Amino acid sequence: MQLGKSPGPDGLTSKYYKTLKDYLTQPLMEVCNQIMEGKKAPESWKEAFITLIPKVETEKTQLKNYRPISLLNVDYKIFADILASRLKKVLNEVIHKDQAGFLPGRHLFDNTRNIIDILELLQTNINTRAVLIFIDAEKAFDNISWMFMKKNLEGMGVGRGFENGIEAIYSEQKAKLIVNNVVTEEFKIEKGTRQGCPLSPLLFISVLEVLLNMIREDRLVQGIQVGVKQYKLKAFADDLVLTLQEPESSTKRVLELIHEFGRVAGFKLNKQKTKVLAKNLTPTETDGFQKETELSVVKKVKYLGVHLSSKNLNLFKDNYEKCWVEIKKDLEIWSRLKLSLLGRIAAIKMNVLPKMLFLFQALQIVDRVECFGKWQKDISKFVWQGKKPRIKFKILTDSKERGGFALPDLRLYYEAAAFCWLKDWFLLENTDVLDLEGFDNAFGWHAYLWYDKVKVHKLFKNHIVRRAIFMVWMKYKDLLEGKTPRWLSPVEAKARKRLNMEAYWPKYWEIIEKTGDNWRLQSQEKLKNKVRDWLHYAQIQEVFKIDKKVGFQVEKSKLETELLEPKTKILSRMYNLLLKWNTQDETVKSAMIKWAQDIGHNIMFEDWERLWNTGMKFTACNALKENIMKMMYRWYMTPVKLAKIYHLSDNKCWKCREAEGTFFHLWWTCPKVKAFWEVIYNELKKVFRYTFPKKPEAFLLGMVDQKVSKKDRSLFMYATTAARILIAKYWKTPDLPTLEEWQTQLMDYMELAEMTGRIRDLGEEIMEEDWKKFKDYLQKHYKLYEC
Ligand SMILES: [Zn+2]
Repeated sequence: MQLGKSPGPDGLTSKYYKTLKDYLTQPLMEVCNQIMEGKKAPESWKEAFITLIPKVETEKTQLKNYRPISLLNVDYKIFADILASRLKKVLNEVIHKDQAGFLPGRHLFDNTRNIIDILELLQTNINTRAVLIFIDAEKAFDNISWMFMKKNLEGMGVGRGFENGIEAIYSEQKAKLIVNNVVTEEFKIEKGTRQGCPLSPLLFISVLEVLLNMIREDRLVQGIQVGVKQYKLKAFADDLVLTLQEPESSTKRVLELIHEFGRVAGFKLNKQKTKVLAKNLTPTETDGFQKETELSVVKKVKYLGVHLSSKNLNLFKDNYEKCWVEIKKDLEIWSRLKLSLLGRIAAIKMNVLPKMLFLFQALQIVDRVECFGKWQKDISKFVWQGKKPRIKFKILTDSKERGGFALPDLRLYYEAAAFCWLKDWFLLENTDVLDLEGFDNAFGWHAYLWYDKVKVHKLFKNHIVRRAIFMVWMKYKDLLEGKTPRWLSPVEAKARKRLNMEAYWPKYWEIIEKTGDNWRLQSQEKLKNKVRDWLHYAQIQEVFKIDKKVGFQVEKSKLETELLEPKTKILSRMYNLLLKWNTQDETVKSAMIKWAQDIGHNIMFEDWERLWNTGMKFTACNALKENIMKMMYRWYMTPVKLAKIYHLSDNKCWKCREAEGTFFHLWWTCPKVKAFWEVIYNELKKVFRYTFPKKPEAFLLGMVDQKVSKKDRSLFMYATTAARILIAKYWKTPDLPTLEEWQTQLMDYMELAEMTGRIRDLGEEIMEEDWKKFKDYLQKHYKLYEC
């Protein structure tokens, strides 16, 4: 249950149920059980409030431009959630994998991949006339017949208890509208799945599945043929697309089936909004098709957020280029907002990355890698506000745990997404994708991946998806698998290529074994379930001998542990893996070396790590964190650097006007700066009421000395950061901050911290603890602070 959402008609929020769960669980469970046994549901469960939310950028006077939002009672939603999780288990079994929505392990990106692959096949098989029909159903969710829905559930065998549960909810529903804060008279609802109810999408797809089965089984409807398989349809919620050969006869039959199904189930096709892409049809044939079917053939359609046309060549321009034009506009607007460096990085992460990530996952088709450089340049320009970058791009993109700024690297995200698609090629399990994507392959997939067969079969790279993801694989191949990989299937690689894959291919991890230091193929006896006959075994033996010369991967490779084994989060796992490699040479960062030279002794790598991982967490304030990062990367321009860049003769310190103005001089060794730090140091001893060493790494970088007690460290960080931010304020001037300025600055931070503490509900005690000594000090020495 998500907290913080609007409650239903009874006004009880999910926080109410969460807080009182010890008292409410038992009675609620009894009610649920009674309903499952056939009792009626509480009256309040049948009620909903409906409010109208205007759609963005539309005319507000038209009713159709408002989106209705239902508010349901929370106890009802708890009950529906329980039913939904049970229903999901059943549906996962009975719903064909053509339907990708709402069920675990099914992704809408499979659907776009399927469509692009089909267009690619039709581009090669120019004699196959085909249409892609993007169905639009009129308010599909709202028109479903209850009677049909219940009968259908019975047919699926969901069990009596479940049926009772649904019966109780879907026998009578009432709703009241909220318009301008006034609640209207109640009215009854007699069809459609309930909006806002977790069961609703599941009920919808189970009804839709009836239609899809009719289409799948009908012989007059011909899908795109690959060997013995037909690819007829893909669905995601109410987004349904049909991919048909024999356009006229197939389409006419489909329309009949939809009509027949619609009459009983309450499903209605919207012919005006249903769009068709035609492939390999002459203009005359296209005209004929439109007349016969009353559907309109178009040049472009938008499907699941992707702009498609009958030629995949347009995909890059219609999606990536278009999207980037929008992003650039956004960047220009945000440039005027005066965000801090970290704020600008956050803007990229929260606004640019999701849009691009969507395209990366839906469209693996980028073969002009120059675009990444162009995008990176635009991002850089925004991050540095058009000025010269002060920190290397690699460091900016590195993860926070390694001292980076975690600015997204779009190219690596694209490549990580490519690996999610490649996973099917490695595992050879998703045979529907493999058959379609490899319809004209001359060899097995693993022959291309591992045995260099692309050199023999050059047409392999003529396929837009195959070319793009294969390029990514080749870039990382040697890094990821130095020896013969465990996932490699020698059997598949050497098999005579058929149009349809066999379902199961044994991988090396299943067929070899180790004796002593030596790898060998398991005996034919052991492998009798995996190989066909002695000839087959002999063939594998041949390949094995060659692969053995390269040597075998003994332990699981990163590719296995990060991509092949996990079921979830593989994109971010792969991103982190690629990122690590890409930033590896930066691990000993040049800034760290310079700091060690200045301070005169080495700073342990662990100390840096501690600073990145925990040291920065003392504050929620970005300006303070940013100061530490800037110190670490020696951001501030010095007279020495400026003299070098602009060929000036004067490189003297702005404060003392005597010594060379190096970074370390201006921050620490200059006599005037030194005096200022001495003041701060003495004041801090007064605050803490004990002494501790005065070390530059503590005052400049926030690596707090062990002598400073643990509970004072947060205050120490605030105090030194305040001093540094003030020094930076007087940068390029002969002046230095005063003691009063420092005290005022620190008092500001105290107020800010107390405010964030209250917002975040941290509890007064922690705040008190952090600042108590500072308050005492102000009072005792300066009478500045009244409690
Ligand atoms: Zn100086």
